Amino acid sequence: MKRIVTLIAAVMLCGCAVSQQQEVQMGQQYSAQIAQQLPLINDPEIVRYINVLGDSIAHVTSRRDLDWHFFVVNSSEVNAFAVPGGYVYVNRGLIERARTMDELAGVVGHEIGHVVKRHTVKQMQQEQGANIGITLACVLTGVCNNQATGTAINVGATALFAKFSRGDEAEADEEGFRNVVRAGISPEGLVTMFQTLIDERQRSPGTVDAWFATHPLEEDRIADVQNLINTLTPQQLASLTKDSKNFHTFKDRLATLPPAPISK
Ligand SMILES: [Zn+2]
Repeated sequence: MKRIVTLIAAVMLCGCAVSQQQEVQMGQQYSAQIAQQLPLINDPEIVRYINVLGDSIAHVTSRRDLDWHFFVVNSSEVNAFAVPGGYVYVNRGLIERARTMDELAGVVGHEIGHVVKRHTVKQMQQEQGANIGITLACVLTGVCNNQATGTAINVGATALFAKFSRGDEAEADEEGFRNVVRAGISPEGLVTMFQTLIDERQRSPGTVDAWFATHPLEEDRIADVQNLINTLTPQQLASLTKDSKNFHTFKDRLATLPPAPISK
């Protein structure tokens, strides 16, 4: 164990760049832990739709070479998050609030943006928590293949996600904007979805707490995205898709599934 701690300290001190291969390994580990600890919806139609939508955006980014995976978390709390390597999670509560396809696409595009810009890697490198260190050590040493240490890395998924900086949020919004447009989807959903979340925070803060705790969101971010949208010509904007039948089939299907377990 002492050797591992020394290794973690060395990684923390030198701030070594995490290679793409290490990033993908980290992502695989986190996603395996998340699958154990969070209720994921495995209904095939739900899984297929979120992956088709997510891939359509991820595959036009500068990191289309990653093996992207998209998941719906069976939680009525409004949130979405990503882990390094291309693993993106959207809570059922957020999907329930999306009124049109472009609103869900905007949030997915934003989370993809955090991965593309490697914010999630950066955040974990900065994280001083022992769990992150242990996971990094796992990646670097393969020690986690050992059964005896396997239990020690069983971290709470929510502990992984510290708050993004406002700069990171602005970058993820810009990436989200650019990539949904490239995917042929209207970026206006980013604005309307954010507005829905801000309105809900004023009405009943509890349900959207998780989102605001990890993604600082204020009116000025909406204005910034609107400024990006204003750079498109009306013809360009009109050519982009706002909504789809498949999105509503997906939402209807989600509504037929058993309610999300009560959290906390
Ligand atoms: Zn964010």
